[in-house]
Amino acid sequence: MQTIDNFKFAGKKAIVRVDFNVPLDENGKITDDTRIRGALPTLKKVLADGGSLIIMSHMGKPKGKVNAKYSLSQIVDAVSEKLGVAVKFADDCAKAADAAAALQPGEVLLLENLRFYGEEEGKPVGIDKEDPAYEDAKKAMKASQKEFAKTLASYADCYINDAFGTAHRKHASTAVIADYFDAENKMLGYLMEKEVQAVDNILSNINRPFTAIMGGSKVSTKIGIIENLMDKVDNLILCGGMTYTFAKAMGGEIGNSICEDDKLQLALDIIEQAKAKGVNLVLGTDCVAADDFSNDANTQVVPANAIPEGWEGLDAGPETQKAFAEAIEGAKTILWNGPAGVFEFDNFTAGSRAIAEAIAKATANGAFSLIGGGDSVACINKFGMADKVSYISTGGGALLEAIEGKVLPGVAAIKG
Ligand code: AMP
Repeated sequence: MQTIDNFKFAGKKAIVRVDFNVPLDENGKITDDTRIRGALPTLKKVLADGGSLIIMSHMGKPKGKVNAKYSLSQIVDAVSEKLGVAVKFADDCAKAADAAAALQPGEVLLLENLRFYGEEEGKPVGIDKEDPAYEDAKKAMKASQKEFAKTLASYADCYINDAFGTAHRKHASTAVIADYFDAENKMLGYLMEKEVQAVDNILSNINRPFTAIMGGSKVSTKIGIIENLMDKVDNLILCGGMTYTFAKAMGGEIGNSICEDDKLQLALDIIEQAKAKGVNLVLGTDCVAADDFSNDANTQVVPANAIPEGWEGLDAGPETQKAFAEAIEGAKTILWNGPAGVFEFDNFTAGSRAIAEAIAKATANGAFSLIGGGDSVACINKFGMADKVSYISTGGGALLEAIEGKVLPGVAAIKG
Protein backbone atom coordinates (compact mmCIF):
# COMPACT_ATOMS: atom_id res chain seq x y z
CA MET A 1 0.00 0.00 0.00
CA GLN A 2 1.27 3.48 -0.87
CA THR A 3 1.94 5.75 2.11
CA ILE A 4 2.02 9.48 2.51
CA ASP A 5 5.59 9.23 3.82
CA ASN A 6 6.86 7.40 0.72
CA PHE A 7 4.99 9.34 -1.96
CA LYS A 8 6.92 12.02 -3.85
CA PHE A 9 4.58 15.03 -3.90
CA ALA A 10 7.00 17.45 -5.61
CA GLY A 11 5.26 18.99 -8.63
CA LYS A 12 2.17 16.83 -8.06
CA LYS A 13 -1.42 17.81 -7.34
CA ALA A 14 -3.01 15.93 -4.45
CA ILE A 15 -6.76 15.83 -3.92
CA VAL A 16 -7.40 15.30 -0.22
CA ARG A 17 -10.71 14.30 1.38
CA VAL A 18 -10.79 15.87 4.84
CA ASP A 19 -13.51 16.24 7.44
CA PHE A 20 -13.99 20.00 7.72
CA ASN A 21 -17.54 19.56 8.98
CA VAL A 22 -16.84 22.01 11.79
CA PRO A 23 -19.53 23.57 13.97
CA LEU A 24 -20.30 27.23 13.15
CA ASP A 25 -22.14 29.83 15.21
CA GLU A 26 -24.97 31.98 13.82
CA ASN A 27 -22.40 34.39 12.33
CA GLY A 28 -20.59 31.61 10.47
CA LYS A 29 -17.68 31.61 12.92
CA ILE A 30 -16.04 28.29 13.75
CA THR A 31 -16.75 27.28 17.37
CA ASP A 32 -14.50 24.19 17.45
CA ASP A 33 -11.63 23.78 14.98
CA THR A 34 -10.50 20.32 16.15
CA ARG A 35 -11.28 18.76 12.79
CA ILE A 36 -9.28 21.32 10.84
CA ARG A 37 -6.34 20.91 13.17
CA GLY A 38 -6.62 17.13 12.77
CA ALA A 39 -5.99 17.33 9.03
CA LEU A 40 -3.07 19.78 9.18
CA PRO A 41 -0.19 17.26 9.39
CA THR A 42 -1.30 15.66 6.12
CA LEU A 43 -1.94 18.95 4.34
CA LYS A 44 1.35 20.46 5.49
CA LYS A 45 3.28 17.37 4.43
CA VAL A 46 2.07 17.71 0.81
CA LEU A 47 2.94 21.41 0.72
CA ALA A 48 6.31 20.96 2.40
CA ASP A 49 7.24 18.36 -0.23
CA GLY A 50 6.46 20.79 -3.06
CA GLY A 51 3.01 19.53 -4.01
CA SER A 52 -0.21 21.48 -4.42
CA LEU A 53 -3.49 20.74 -2.65
CA ILE A 54 -7.09 20.37 -3.69
CA ILE A 55 -9.03 20.03 -0.45
CA MET A 56 -12.54 18.62 -0.41
CA SER A 57 -15.05 18.09 2.39
CA HIS A 58 -18.71 18.05 3.28
CA MET A 59 -20.37 20.32 5.81
CA GLY A 60 -23.72 19.61 7.43
CA LYS A 61 -26.58 17.94 5.60
CA PRO A 62 -27.58 20.10 2.63
CA LYS A 63 -29.06 16.98 0.99
CA GLY A 64 -27.92 17.59 -2.55
CA LYS A 65 -28.92 21.26 -2.70
CA VAL A 66 -26.87 24.45 -2.63
CA ASN A 67 -27.38 26.09 0.76
CA ALA A 68 -25.30 29.10 1.85
CA LYS A 69 -25.60 28.03 5.48
CA TYR A 70 -23.35 25.07 4.71
CA SER A 71 -20.92 26.82 2.37
CA LEU A 72 -17.27 26.00 2.97
CA SER A 73 -16.46 29.56 1.87
CA GLN A 74 -17.05 30.38 5.55
CA ILE A 75 -13.90 28.55 6.59
CA VAL A 76 -11.48 29.74 3.89
CA ASP A 77 -9.86 32.31 6.19
CA ALA A 78 -9.44 29.85 9.04
CA VAL A 79 -7.84 27.23 6.78
CA SER A 80 -5.59 29.89 5.20
CA GLU A 81 -4.45 31.01 8.60
CA LYS A 82 -3.71 27.49 9.81
CA LEU A 83 -1.85 26.47 6.65
CA GLY A 84 -0.05 29.79 6.31
CA VAL A 85 -1.14 29.94 2.64
CA ALA A 86 -3.86 32.07 1.00
CA VAL A 87 -6.37 29.35 0.14
CA LYS A 88 -8.26 29.74 -3.16
CA PHE A 89 -11.92 28.73 -3.29
CA ALA A 90 -13.84 26.91 -6.03
CA ASP A 91 -17.52 27.71 -5.56
CA ASP A 92 -18.68 24.65 -7.51
CA CYS A 93 -16.83 21.45 -6.64
CA ALA A 94 -17.80 19.77 -9.93
CA LYS A 95 -16.61 22.67 -12.09
CA ALA A 96 -13.16 23.28 -10.66
CA ALA A 97 -11.01 21.79 -13.45
CA ASP A 98 -9.53 25.12 -14.56
CA ALA A 99 -8.80 26.30 -11.03
CA ALA A 100 -7.17 22.96 -10.25
CA ALA A 101 -5.11 22.99 -13.46
CA ALA A 102 -3.80 26.47 -12.65
CA LEU A 103 -2.48 25.44 -9.21
CA GLN A 104 1.26 25.89 -8.71
CA PRO A 105 3.38 23.95 -6.19
CA GLY A 106 2.60 25.20 -2.68
CA GLU A 107 -0.85 26.48 -3.65
CA VAL A 108 -4.14 25.34 -2.16
CA LEU A 109 -7.65 25.15 -3.58
CA LEU A 110 -10.64 24.41 -1.35
CA LEU A 111 -13.69 22.99 -3.11
CA GLU A 112 -17.24 23.98 -2.17
CA ASN A 113 -19.28 21.52 -0.07
CA LEU A 114 -19.40 18.14 -1.83
CA ARG A 115 -22.90 17.48 -0.50
CA PHE A 116 -24.35 20.31 -2.56
CA TYR A 117 -24.43 17.46 -5.09
CA GLY A 118 -26.64 14.44 -4.33
CA GLU A 119 -23.99 12.45 -6.19
CA GLU A 120 -21.64 12.75 -3.23
CA GLU A 121 -23.77 10.48 -1.05
CA GLY A 122 -25.30 8.71 -4.05
CA LYS A 123 -28.83 9.30 -2.80
CA PRO A 124 -31.60 10.51 -5.12
CA VAL A 125 -32.59 14.10 -4.38
CA GLY A 126 -36.20 15.25 -3.98
CA ILE A 127 -37.80 11.84 -4.22
CA ASP A 128 -39.34 9.94 -1.37
CA LYS A 129 -38.10 6.45 -0.43
CA GLU A 130 -41.69 5.21 -0.63
CA ASP A 131 -42.10 6.49 -4.20
CA PRO A 132 -42.24 3.58 -6.72
CA ALA A 133 -39.77 5.48 -8.90
CA TYR A 134 -37.20 5.61 -6.06
CA GLU A 135 -35.30 2.44 -6.99
CA ASP A 136 -34.79 3.59 -10.60
CA ALA A 137 -33.75 7.02 -9.40
CA LYS A 138 -31.24 5.34 -7.08
CA LYS A 139 -29.74 3.33 -9.93
CA ALA A 140 -29.43 6.45 -12.08
CA MET A 141 -27.84 8.26 -9.16
CA LYS A 142 -25.24 5.51 -8.67
CA ALA A 143 -24.20 5.98 -12.31
CA SER A 144 -23.91 9.75 -11.98
CA GLN A 145 -22.07 9.27 -8.68
CA LYS A 146 -19.31 7.52 -10.65
CA GLU A 147 -19.16 10.42 -13.11
CA PHE A 148 -18.98 12.89 -10.23
CA ALA A 149 -16.14 10.93 -8.59
CA LYS A 150 -14.32 10.73 -11.94
CA THR A 151 -14.58 14.52 -12.32
CA LEU A 152 -13.08 15.06 -8.86
CA ALA A 153 -10.33 12.56 -9.61
CA SER A 154 -9.47 14.34 -12.87
CA TYR A 155 -8.28 17.40 -10.90
CA ALA A 156 -5.28 15.64 -9.38
CA ASP A 157 -2.38 13.21 -9.75
CA CYS A 158 -2.96 11.45 -6.46
CA TYR A 159 -5.69 10.94 -3.85
CA ILE A 160 -5.45 11.03 -0.08
CA ASN A 161 -8.28 10.13 2.27
CA ASP A 162 -7.84 11.73 5.69
CA ALA A 163 -11.52 11.87 6.70
CA PHE A 164 -11.99 9.10 9.24
CA GLY A 165 -15.33 10.57 10.32
CA THR A 166 -16.86 9.53 6.97
CA ALA A 167 -14.78 6.39 6.35
CA HIS A 168 -17.83 4.19 7.03
CA ARG A 169 -19.66 5.75 4.08
CA LYS A 170 -19.24 4.69 0.47
CA HIS A 171 -19.49 8.20 -0.93
CA ALA A 172 -18.03 9.65 -4.13
CA SER A 173 -15.18 11.43 -2.36
CA THR A 174 -14.53 8.83 0.34
CA ALA A 175 -14.45 5.62 -1.68
CA VAL A 176 -15.70 5.75 -5.30
CA ILE A 177 -13.02 8.25 -6.34
CA ALA A 178 -10.28 5.78 -5.37
CA ASP A 179 -11.21 3.62 -8.40
CA TYR A 180 -9.80 6.33 -10.65
CA PHE A 181 -6.29 6.17 -9.18
CA ASP A 182 -3.70 3.38 -9.42
CA ALA A 183 -2.61 1.75 -6.19
CA GLU A 184 0.63 3.77 -6.08
CA ASN A 185 -1.28 7.06 -6.37
CA LYS A 186 -3.75 6.70 -3.49
CA MET A 187 -3.08 6.63 0.22
CA LEU A 188 -4.41 7.25 3.70
CA GLY A 189 -3.60 10.55 5.39
CA TYR A 190 -1.84 10.70 8.75
CA LEU A 191 -5.07 11.04 10.73
CA MET A 192 -6.58 8.00 9.01
CA GLU A 193 -3.36 6.03 9.55
CA LYS A 194 -3.51 6.81 13.28
CA GLU A 195 -7.19 5.84 13.54
CA VAL A 196 -6.66 2.59 11.64
CA GLN A 197 -3.66 1.79 13.84
CA ALA A 198 -5.66 2.52 17.01
CA VAL A 199 -8.45 0.17 15.93
CA ASP A 200 -5.87 -2.46 15.04
CA ASN A 201 -4.42 -2.18 18.56
CA ILE A 202 -7.72 -3.18 20.09
CA LEU A 203 -8.97 -5.67 17.50
CA SER A 204 -5.88 -7.56 16.34
CA ASN A 205 -2.71 -6.45 18.01
CA ILE A 206 -4.02 -6.86 21.56
CA ASN A 207 -1.81 -6.53 24.61
CA ARG A 208 -3.51 -8.36 27.52
CA PRO A 209 -5.42 -8.00 29.72
CA PHE A 210 -7.94 -6.14 27.57
CA THR A 211 -10.76 -4.26 29.29
CA ALA A 212 -13.62 -2.76 27.29
CA ILE A 213 -16.02 -0.33 28.91
CA MET A 214 -19.32 0.12 27.14
CA GLY A 215 -21.75 2.65 28.55
CA GLY A 216 -24.35 5.06 27.28
CA SER A 217 -28.08 4.78 27.32
CA LYS A 218 -29.05 1.59 25.51
CA VAL A 219 -27.96 -1.99 24.94
CA SER A 220 -29.61 -2.04 21.51
CA THR A 221 -27.26 0.51 19.95
CA LYS A 222 -24.16 -1.23 21.33
CA ILE A 223 -25.02 -4.87 20.78
CA GLY A 224 -22.98 -5.27 17.56
CA ILE A 225 -19.89 -4.03 19.35
CA ILE A 226 -20.53 -6.04 22.51
CA GLU A 227 -20.83 -9.22 20.45
CA ASN A 228 -17.66 -8.55 18.47
CA LEU A 229 -15.70 -7.68 21.62
CA MET A 230 -16.89 -10.74 23.52
CA ASP A 231 -14.36 -12.87 21.62
CA LYS A 232 -11.53 -10.49 22.34
CA VAL A 233 -11.77 -8.99 25.81
CA ASP A 234 -10.75 -10.28 29.24
CA ASN A 235 -12.96 -7.82 31.14
CA LEU A 236 -16.18 -6.28 29.86
CA ILE A 237 -17.72 -3.45 31.85
CA LEU A 238 -21.30 -2.66 30.85
CA CYS A 239 -22.50 0.53 32.49
CA GLY A 240 -24.66 3.64 32.09
CA GLY A 241 -28.33 3.24 31.28
CA MET A 242 -27.96 -0.38 30.17
CA THR A 243 -27.22 -1.36 33.78
CA TYR A 244 -30.96 -1.33 34.46
CA THR A 245 -31.95 -3.52 31.53
CA PHE A 246 -29.55 -6.12 32.96
CA ALA A 247 -30.79 -5.60 36.53
CA LYS A 248 -34.41 -6.04 35.48
CA ALA A 249 -33.57 -9.06 33.32
CA MET A 250 -32.09 -10.70 36.42
CA GLY A 251 -35.26 -10.05 38.38
CA GLY A 252 -34.31 -6.75 40.02
CA GLU A 253 -36.51 -3.76 40.86
CA ILE A 254 -35.35 -0.71 38.90
CA GLY A 255 -37.97 1.95 39.67
CA ASN A 256 -38.15 4.55 36.89
CA SER A 257 -34.69 3.79 35.50
CA ILE A 258 -34.17 3.71 31.77
CA CYS A 259 -34.81 0.18 30.49
CA GLU A 260 -35.33 -1.59 27.17
CA ASP A 261 -38.03 -4.10 28.01
CA ASP A 262 -37.67 -5.83 24.66
CA LYS A 263 -33.97 -6.48 25.34
CA LEU A 264 -34.28 -8.41 28.62
CA GLN A 265 -33.60 -11.75 26.94
CA LEU A 266 -30.70 -10.21 25.05
CA ALA A 267 -29.21 -9.09 28.37
CA LEU A 268 -29.49 -12.64 29.75
CA ASP A 269 -27.88 -13.99 26.56
CA ILE A 270 -24.96 -11.58 26.97
CA ILE A 271 -24.46 -12.78 30.55
CA GLU A 272 -24.46 -16.41 29.32
CA GLN A 273 -22.09 -15.63 26.45
CA ALA A 274 -19.64 -13.97 28.82
CA LYS A 275 -19.71 -17.05 31.08
CA ALA A 276 -19.20 -19.43 28.16
CA LYS A 277 -16.29 -17.38 26.81
CA GLY A 278 -14.60 -16.84 30.17
CA VAL A 279 -15.07 -13.06 29.98
CA ASN A 280 -15.20 -11.24 33.32
CA LEU A 281 -18.45 -9.29 32.94
CA VAL A 282 -18.64 -6.34 35.32
CA LEU A 283 -22.11 -4.89 35.90
CA GLY A 284 -23.14 -2.16 38.33
CA THR A 285 -24.11 -3.46 41.78
CA ASP A 286 -25.03 -0.13 43.34
CA CYS A 287 -26.14 3.17 41.84
CA VAL A 288 -26.89 6.78 42.60
CA ALA A 289 -30.65 6.97 42.30
CA ALA A 290 -32.49 10.27 41.81
CA ASP A 291 -36.13 11.24 42.37
CA ASP A 292 -36.13 13.30 39.17
CA PHE A 293 -34.18 13.40 35.89
CA SER A 294 -32.37 16.61 36.80
CA ASN A 295 -29.09 17.79 38.22
CA ASP A 296 -30.73 19.06 41.39
CA ALA A 297 -32.77 15.95 42.16
CA ASN A 298 -32.60 14.34 45.60
CA THR A 299 -30.29 11.33 45.55
CA GLN A 300 -29.57 8.13 47.46
CA VAL A 301 -27.16 5.25 46.90
CA VAL A 302 -29.10 2.00 46.54
CA PRO A 303 -28.46 -1.49 45.11
CA ALA A 304 -28.88 -1.40 41.30
CA ASN A 305 -31.45 -4.19 41.64
CA ALA A 306 -33.49 -2.61 44.44
CA ILE A 307 -34.33 0.89 43.31
CA PRO A 308 -37.36 2.30 45.12
CA GLU A 309 -40.54 3.14 43.21
CA GLY A 310 -40.34 6.71 41.80
CA TRP A 311 -36.52 6.76 41.74
CA GLU A 312 -34.16 6.17 38.81
CA GLY A 313 -30.49 5.19 38.56
CA LEU A 314 -28.52 8.04 37.02
CA ASP A 315 -24.94 7.12 37.95
CA ALA A 316 -22.77 4.26 39.16
CA GLY A 317 -22.49 3.94 42.96
CA PRO A 318 -19.24 3.85 44.99
CA GLU A 319 -18.98 0.03 45.19
CA THR A 320 -19.47 -0.20 41.42
CA GLN A 321 -16.89 2.51 40.80
CA LYS A 322 -14.37 0.45 42.79
CA ALA A 323 -15.14 -2.67 40.74
CA PHE A 324 -14.73 -0.69 37.50
CA ALA A 325 -11.39 0.71 38.65
CA GLU A 326 -10.12 -2.79 39.53
CA ALA A 327 -10.97 -4.13 36.08
CA ILE A 328 -9.37 -1.13 34.38
CA GLU A 329 -6.24 -0.41 36.37
CA GLY A 330 -4.52 -3.74 35.63
CA ALA A 331 -5.36 -3.67 31.92
CA LYS A 332 -2.83 -3.25 29.11
CA THR A 333 -5.44 -2.49 26.42
CA ILE A 334 -8.52 -0.38 27.12
CA LEU A 335 -11.46 0.73 25.02
CA TRP A 336 -14.04 3.17 26.41
CA ASN A 337 -17.27 3.98 24.64
CA GLY A 338 -20.18 5.59 26.46
CA PRO A 339 -20.53 7.21 29.90
CA ALA A 340 -21.39 5.42 33.14
CA GLY A 341 -24.09 7.93 34.06
CA VAL A 342 -25.84 11.09 32.99
CA PHE A 343 -22.52 12.94 32.93
CA GLU A 344 -24.13 16.05 31.40
CA PHE A 345 -25.46 16.71 34.95
CA ASP A 346 -22.50 17.68 37.16
CA ASN A 347 -23.94 15.76 40.10
CA PHE A 348 -23.92 12.47 38.17
CA THR A 349 -20.38 12.40 36.79
CA ALA A 350 -18.68 10.32 39.53
CA GLY A 351 -19.00 6.96 37.76
CA SER A 352 -17.63 8.27 34.48
CA ARG A 353 -14.92 10.17 36.33
CA ALA A 354 -13.85 6.99 38.17
CA ILE A 355 -13.53 5.26 34.79
CA ALA A 356 -11.54 8.16 33.31
CA GLU A 357 -9.20 8.24 36.32
CA ALA A 358 -8.59 4.48 36.21
CA ILE A 359 -7.87 4.69 32.48
CA ALA A 360 -5.41 7.54 33.08
CA LYS A 361 -3.65 5.46 35.74
CA ALA A 362 -3.43 2.37 33.52
CA THR A 363 -2.19 4.50 30.61
CA ALA A 364 0.53 5.97 32.82
CA ASN A 365 1.52 2.36 33.55
CA GLY A 366 1.94 1.57 29.87
CA ALA A 367 -1.55 0.53 28.73
CA PHE A 368 -2.90 1.53 25.32
CA SER A 369 -6.23 3.33 25.82
CA LEU A 370 -8.64 4.26 23.07
CA ILE A 371 -11.56 6.55 23.78
CA GLY A 372 -14.15 6.92 21.09
CA GLY A 373 -17.69 7.35 19.99
CA GLY A 374 -19.29 10.63 20.91
CA ASP A 375 -20.14 10.95 24.54
CA SER A 376 -17.08 9.35 26.13
CA VAL A 377 -14.97 11.87 24.23
CA ALA A 378 -17.19 14.68 25.57
CA CYS A 379 -16.73 13.14 29.02
CA ILE A 380 -12.95 12.98 28.92
CA ASN A 381 -12.86 16.56 27.65
CA LYS A 382 -15.24 17.70 30.41
CA PHE A 383 -12.84 16.19 32.96
CA GLY A 384 -9.84 17.85 31.26
CA MET A 385 -8.14 14.45 30.91
CA ALA A 386 -7.68 14.24 27.13
CA ASP A 387 -3.89 14.22 27.48
CA LYS A 388 -3.96 11.31 29.91
CA VAL A 389 -5.18 8.67 27.48
CA SER A 390 -3.39 7.14 24.48
CA TYR A 391 -5.77 8.02 21.71
CA ILE A 392 -9.07 9.84 21.27
CA SER A 393 -10.80 8.84 18.07
CA THR A 394 -12.27 11.52 15.82
CA GLY A 395 -14.52 8.86 14.36
CA GLY A 396 -17.91 8.52 16.03
CA GLY A 397 -19.93 6.23 13.76
CA ALA A 398 -16.86 5.17 11.77
CA LEU A 399 -15.09 4.05 14.92
CA LEU A 400 -18.11 2.13 16.17
CA GLU A 401 -18.48 0.30 12.86
CA ALA A 402 -14.78 -0.53 12.81
CA ILE A 403 -15.02 -1.96 16.34
CA GLU A 404 -18.04 -3.98 15.30
CA GLY A 405 -15.64 -5.62 12.87
CA LYS A 406 -17.17 -4.05 9.75
CA VAL A 407 -14.95 -3.14 6.82
CA LEU A 408 -14.83 0.65 6.36
CA PRO A 409 -15.35 1.50 2.65
CA GLY A 410 -13.06 4.54 2.93
CA VAL A 411 -10.20 2.40 4.16
CA ALA A 412 -10.90 -0.59 1.92
CA ALA A 413 -10.94 1.64 -1.19
CA ILE A 414 -7.28 2.41 -0.55
CA LYS A 415 -6.00 -0.73 1.13
CA GLY A 416 -7.81 -2.96 -1.37
P1 AMP B 1 -25.09 6.75 23.92
O1 AMP B 1 -25.37 7.79 22.90
O2 AMP B 1 -25.93 5.51 23.78
O3 AMP B 1 -23.63 6.47 24.09
O4 AMP B 1 -25.61 7.34 25.28
C1 AMP B 1 -25.06 8.46 25.89
C2 AMP B 1 -26.08 9.04 26.81
O5 AMP B 1 -26.44 8.07 27.77
C3 AMP B 1 -25.61 10.25 27.57
O6 AMP B 1 -26.34 11.36 27.12
C4 AMP B 1 -25.96 9.93 29.02
O7 AMP B 1 -26.59 10.99 29.69
C5 AMP B 1 -26.93 8.76 28.88
N1 AMP B 1 -26.96 7.94 30.09
C6 AMP B 1 -25.94 7.36 30.72
N2 AMP B 1 -26.36 6.76 31.84
C7 AMP B 1 -27.70 6.95 31.91
C8 AMP B 1 -28.72 6.58 32.85
N3 AMP B 1 -28.41 5.88 33.93
N4 AMP B 1 -29.96 6.97 32.62
C9 AMP B 1 -30.27 7.69 31.51
N5 AMP B 1 -29.37 8.07 30.59
C10 AMP B 1 -28.09 7.71 30.80
